[in-house]
Amino acid sequence: MKRYISLIAAALLTSCSIGITAYDTPTKQAVKDKWMKWANDNVDQQRDNFFDLYKINIAHFNPNEMMGQFIADYDQAVEKELSGCTNEESTSKSAIYAIASKIFLGNPHQKLEIVHNKELKDIGVTPHYTDQKIFVTANCDTLAQEDPTVIEGILLHEKSHIVHADPLISNLLQCLAFYSSDDTNENIEQNNYAFQKACETRADIYSAVNSVDHGQGLITFFEKYMGHDSPHHPKDEDRIALLKKIKAELDAAS
Ligand SMILES: [Zn+2]
Repeated sequence: MKRYISLIAAALLTSCSIGITAYDTPTKQAVKDKWMKWANDNVDQQRDNFFDLYKINIAHFNPNEMMGQFIADYDQAVEKELSGCTNEESTSKSAIYAIASKIFLGNPHQKLEIVHNKELKDIGVTPHYTDQKIFVTANCDTLAQEDPTVIEGILLHEKSHIVHADPLISNLLQCLAFYSSDDTNENIEQNNYAFQKACETRADIYSAVNSVDHGQGLITFFEKYMGHDSPHHPKDEDRIALLKKIKAELDAAS
């Protein structure tokens, strides 16, 4: 009888420990889903705060019609910005194309162009909506020296802005505020910073949950090139701290 009880106890302990292990170790997918939900909720919250601040009633507007106009303006601005760029081929440009094509090409963007500009310190990724084309602008010679996972980490961050149409929605919000209030453009823009920061954080998370290496790539990039702080970007150290937290959770996940 005693032996029987101890066997039951052993079986219970085994099942408990299995239960505890399963509970304590989430899957990588669960970690990814949790952080993307947190990031999306954060963006939605900031958008709703902006709506409340300007008492915007979305029912009074036709966002699709407004978005159509934004896209036309946006594409025109892209064409203007790129008109001065040169286009010569190089080994570094081909290397960046090979990496960027894996990230950007597919539905709905079927075309990709890398625009090398040796004056650039930042990396720009701009969709041309009408042409369904993605432009990556960078100093390819400098960029190609980075580890490919660093480049992918940065480009995945940019992809989030495209997937979620962040610049277009940000413009739309400011436009709705303009028509709903007597506030100045300057104030409206400042009051939209919280939304833009939330979009930046979501873009970091979008990249970081893609893989541990991509999160590390972004950390490396921010640590190497500090100074991205601006009114519409979160502080570099806060971004790095969040990326490290996500990386630790993914490392620990099953
Ligand atoms: Zn960004």
